[in-house]
Amino acid sequence: MPTIFSKIVAGEIPADIVYQDERVTAFKDIHPLAPVHILIIPNKEIATVDDVSPEDEATLGHLFVVAKEVARKLGIAESGYRLIINCKGDGGQEVFHLHLHLLGGKKLGSMLAKS
Ligand code: AMP
Repeated sequence: MPTIFSKIVAGEIPADIVYQDERVTAFKDIHPLAPVHILIIPNKEIATVDDVSPEDEATLGHLFVVAKEVARKLGIAESGYRLIINCKGDGGQEVFHLHLHLLGGKKLGSMLAKS
């Protein structure tokens, strides 16, 4: 069964897409955690980082190139930003279609909440 993100790639459900090409799609997170919160995904459905294979290397490298370009386009390249990939339960992953969170537009604080 296709993930909700595959349906966004296919145009079957709406999303605010900021970039798309034959390998990746970038769109605004529906529940933003920062002034800029973009999800960048491979169009190919890869469930988690734990499911990545060597044949995905070029596509996953391209995710970072697109992240950089989207950050520039949205005006946060100079001030800085954070890229996050959650993996499975302890990583806090909710949607099992690998995605890169691009967050910025304010000071994001420490990487993890200190307990
Ligand atoms: P993660 O916890 O890393 O799996 O993150 C999943 C992210 O997907 C969350 O930040 C959600 O707000 C976001 N999300 C879920 N459904 C949608 C959607 N239809 N459009 C945009 N973002 C979504």
